[in-house]
Amino acid sequence: MELRLYDTLTRDKRPFTPLDPANVRMYVCGPTVYDFAHIGNARPVIVFDVLFRLLRHLYGEAHVKYVRNITDVDDKINDRAARDYPGLPLNEAIRKVTEQTERQFHDDVDALGCLRPTVEPRATEHIGEMRSIIEKLVAGGFAYVEQDHVLFSPSAMNAANGVLPRYGSLANRSLDEMIAGARVDVAPYKRDATDFVLWKPSKPGEPSWPSPAGIATPGRPGWHIECSAMSWKHLGETFDIHGGGIDLVFPHHENEVAQSCCAFHTSRMAQTWMHNGFLQVEGEKMSKSLGNFLTIADQRDHWGPAVLRLNMLKTHYRQPIDWTQHSLSETGRELDRWFEFLEKTPGGDASSASAVVSALMDDLNSSAAITALRALFRERNAAGLRSGLDLLGVPVGREFVQGRKHFRLYAEAGSIAVVGGTATFNIGPKSTNQADIQRLIDARTAARANKDWKESDRIRDELAAMGVVLKDGKDADGKPVTTWEIAR
Ligand code: AMP
Ligand code: ZN
Repeated sequence: MELRLYDTLTRDKRPFTPLDPANVRMYVCGPTVYDFAHIGNARPVIVFDVLFRLLRHLYGEAHVKYVRNITDVDDKINDRAARDYPGLPLNEAIRKVTEQTERQFHDDVDALGCLRPTVEPRATEHIGEMRSIIEKLVAGGFAYVEQDHVLFSPSAMNAANGVLPRYGSLANRSLDEMIAGARVDVAPYKRDATDFVLWKPSKPGEPSWPSPAGIATPGRPGWHIECSAMSWKHLGETFDIHGGGIDLVFPHHENEVAQSCCAFHTSRMAQTWMHNGFLQVEGEKMSKSLGNFLTIADQRDHWGPAVLRLNMLKTHYRQPIDWTQHSLSETGRELDRWFEFLEKTPGGDASSASAVVSALMDDLNSSAAITALRALFRERNAAGLRSGLDLLGVPVGREFVQGRKHFRLYAEAGSIAVVGGTATFNIGPKSTNQADIQRLIDARTAARANKDWKESDRIRDELAAMGVVLKDGKDADGKPVTTWEIAR
């Protein structure tokens, strides 16, 4: 069985052969750290985490290097810093914004069960590499200096002979069309409308570094050069896989290819280009103005990480996803059944999820992998189900909410362990005093009769913390009754 991946550049699905199987290399564009990550941003993080897990499974953990950068220099960061901390010097405000956002991003993606990449380089720590690529591009005639900017010229690239790819080939656009379609009122420092910025001057107070190419004014890099520099530093001039969301194909990835191939005289930056499709919310594009902007943090608190992750993987990564309450609830119900079964069926041989592996070998078909999980559940194959969920990175264990925090319950011999965030603590023996539980349930029933929802929720949470799960229903006469069980 071989791994086959779809390549955006060649628009076909091919067997994946790493340049060096002892060192399989993948780069994924990471977040620009100025705002909370939204649930759409979680998609590439989860998708490429599954690919990372699969590659580790195939080539060995020590032989896969995954680099995902953090963009901590960008005009959007400067604007946010000036808006949120008007009293602080800009550079201090920027540090506050980037540190906070980076911490939040890590909390979010850790909670979603994503492994940390092997390296998470920050753009501001790679300015030297950016300057050095820019120098190579200017020396090679692919870039020029104008009004303290350095611009890359796609026309110069396409005029060059040799191994270089054609500018526009990743996005499947012709440069002539792009030139014809470009607006006439281009920036005064650009020779051609399609030229893009590698380096630009900074105003006093803005983040700045000594400029390349003999420019006296200090400046800062453009966005695209950051990824060419960080992937070069950590993965080399060419590597195996480059990923990101579909919106990054043009101009970001097209420009990365142009910079890296022209600087290093190579025909390929990455052997395989992979792009995830977009996520919509209840059939609409997510946007702040529509009020349907869902942060990972809110979604995580509401649904719990296992539901978010499995729901994301139900759709193949290249298809668009419609993120709906309906499908999240369905995913939650399905996981409940699986977790209940797994809790009752411990142990087993963990090597039996081959159908899940084969599904993922076909261009990361996570949707077929989930169909395989369903079959394992139907066959009552606990070990297979557990190892399949593990390969998809879905944290196993029943979840419950207390306050705004999610916990997972594990049944251990004689006690119940509750895992919340990174802490694990025992919440006592399974033989919780039944009279105490009944007393609390009666108090809650009384509170509900008085429509004191706050108190009734408080008691439900107190019971949940004891590992007791309540089920509200009606008896034969239609009177509300509450039954309970120890979450196992
Ligand atoms: P950004 O912060 O916008 O640069 O995006 C970070 C990553 O999230 C990129 O790989 C984007 O392609 C991806 N992304 C942003 N919005 C969505 C969305 N609605 N659906 C899927 N991926 C997205
Ligand atoms: Zn990038």
